[in-house]
Amino acid sequence: MESCNCPECVSACSTDPGRLLPEDVQKLACLLGIPEEELLKQYLVKILLSPKDTIYGLAPAKRKGKRFIAAPGTVAPDYYTRERGVCIFLDEQGACAIQGAKPFECSAYMGCKNTFLGKPYRKKYVEEFFLLRWRKARSPEIKG
Ligand code: SF4
Ligand code: SF4
Repeated sequence: MESCNCPECVSACSTDPGRLLPEDVQKLACLLGIPEEELLKQYLVKILLSPKDTIYGLAPAKRKGKRFIAAPGTVAPDYYTRERGVCIFLDEQGACAIQGAKPFECSAYMGCKNTFLGKPYRKKYVEEFFLLRWRKARSPEIKG
């Protein structure tokens, strides 16, 4: 897959951080050297992918100014995905601090070409893609 990772570009990181796939959790916990439950508690939020089936996924927490839109380790409110915010993993130099294990969507979506996995971006397809992957996985362990 053509990967979205030009070091100088953080196009979505200041507005809409990419979502994780289930397998990203272990990779990222490993990179940070912390247990998975700490990763969830300190850096991620649980987001509702399908109200109909109550399927949840995970995304980096995001900030608006100094405050988190939803605190790490919580279930994000319904309006969360519509709010723009800065990714918790964007460092002070304006670079991704977890480049080696960033969430799948951060690599798969190319803002400059408006593609997902190398194909023209289609919202319905992308939403179904994440829904399908999280439906098969166990629900992320965040209480809320
Ligand atoms: S959006 Fe385009 S320029 Fe930016 S990191 Fe992805 S491929 Fe590179
Ligand atoms: S994880 Fe990294 S690449 Fe993805 S939105 Fe956050 S800072 Fe950007």
